Amino acid sequence: MKKTPLKRRTALRSKTRLKKQGKQPISRLQRELWELCKQLTRKRYGNTCYTCGKQNLEGSNWHTGHLIPKAALGAYQKYDLKVLRPQCYYCNINLGGNGAEFYRRMVQSEGSDYVQTLYEDRQKTVKAYDHYTKLIQDYQAKIKAL
Ligand SMILES: [Zn+2]
Repeated sequence: MKKTPLKRRTALRSKTRLKKQGKQPISRLQRELWELCKQLTRKRYGNTCYTCGKQNLEGSNWHTGHLIPKAALGAYQKYDLKVLRPQCYYCNINLGGNGAEFYRRMVQSEGSDYVQTLYEDRQKTVKAYDHYTKLIQDYQAKIKAL
């Protein structure tokens, strides 16, 4: 009998384990969640860059940016629609999110209490897997209701 290569065997084993627990890999949840975030942010705020006002964004120039850099956010806020707005490539990538302008506009349009709360919420911790599962259900319902 032919032996299955070790790498393949390991892959099979971990797949089986995931199936037994009825769990998807967290990376898949994150990918799905980010797709939903992008769709909802686009629907809600359109195709104008939040930070520089550039209009008619499309294709790879139509980004979704975070008020606070994604790397500084935990599972609770990374996919929170409250911190997300459409941005152009230049603001999101070249200016690293254009944070100061993002902040200024956010205070202007949502009020300082709203922004203050977002900064305070950085301390909140959640179980990522459960939180993401809940958000996916929530956001899917939001999209259906559009
Ligand atoms: Zn921009």
